[in-house]
Amino acid sequence: MKPIPFNKPFIIGRELSLIADAVSRGHLSGDGHYTRLCNRWFEEKLHCRKALLTHSCTAALEMSAILCDLQPGDEVILPSYTFVSTANAFALRGAVPVFVDIRPDTLNIDEKLIEAAITPKTRAIVPVHYAGVPCEMDTIMDIAKRHKLLVVEDAAQALLSTYKGKALGTIGHFGCLSFHETKNIISGEGGALLINDEHFFERAEVIREKGTNRSQFFRGEVDKYTWVDIGSSYLPSELVSAFLYAQLEHADEITAQRCRICSAYAEQLAPLEQAGKLRLPRFDADSNGHMYYMLLDSLATRTALIAHLKAQGINPVFHYVPLHSSPAGRKYGRVSGSMQVTDELNERLLRLPLHYEMDDADVARISAAIRDFF
Ligand SMILES: *Cc1c(COP(=O)(O)O)cnc(C)c1O
Repeated sequence: MKPIPFNKPFIIGRELSLIADAVSRGHLSGDGHYTRLCNRWFEEKLHCRKALLTHSCTAALEMSAILCDLQPGDEVILPSYTFVSTANAFALRGAVPVFVDIRPDTLNIDEKLIEAAITPKTRAIVPVHYAGVPCEMDTIMDIAKRHKLLVVEDAAQALLSTYKGKALGTIGHFGCLSFHETKNIISGEGGALLINDEHFFERAEVIREKGTNRSQFFRGEVDKYTWVDIGSSYLPSELVSAFLYAQLEHADEITAQRCRICSAYAEQLAPLEQAGKLRLPRFDADSNGHMYYMLLDSLATRTALIAHLKAQGINPVFHYVPLHSSPAGRKYGRVSGSMQVTDELNERLLRLPLHYEMDDADVARISAAIRDFF
């Protein structure tokens, strides 16, 4: 039987012809025609104040950490159940990641536990919208306001998801998006920083351009460009931006297709949930179909189910060694309170194949194999 990969990068429209066009325009480095088109697309579509394309979400998180002006020993509150970059970007500044447990329903940071983690050294909260499902942003923004903290949304998985009608990534001070080939909209590697507070606009441009005021120079706002601050090279090449723009032209269609696949899984697997064999994710209209996972009853069941599916050419995956128990997480971070939900659920979670080119027959085959296992 034809193998079903977990993920498959795809071409949907004008990717290759826009890359050819970028080449013929004779500008291949950053901030040319296609980078500007992408930035504007995010600003208009997501209603955000300013978007800057980066070469990855990791780069956008690192820029946020610099913009937060963290000093060694400052603390940043985040979930432990997340990708490495959420913590690493802040550890690079000498800050201490403080891990808080997640909610059992969404696997997002448990907003009720955040205040207990705040100390005089806390500077920022980094909510991660796991699987594209929104964190409780009203509560988080309220806590941040009362304690004068900055909020960096790790919206790597959350492009086109919303919270109370607002695009994820546009609610905190900063939002970080990813276009890695495992995300919904892709450019191989890629990311964007959304800046929602104009106080940070100018410094963000400088940090992204190697610490220079080059962007202002090209706009004619200064008469020479020079080194003015710390920074790095966070821009993508025009080749990457051209590919990304071609995907953005089909963003709604890609999102709708992924949501359709999630609904098909939900329908096919509902009998197993009703029989108490597993738990399926919450799946509301405000999320973008980024991920479909199941929560099984134990690590042993997960291990056996993976073997059963792999034997039939189906490739599910699990992820995230919780950062608080990783070697670098122990060295650079600390926990606040119990990590019980994180410790328990990470061993029972299994992600099912989900990519743009899957069809109903694939979902039916995967679901039948899972039903067969039980
Ligand atoms: C994918 C991901 C990242 C990193 O994105 P890159 O674009 O690969 O740097 C960060 N955080 C989360 C939650 C992610 O899922």
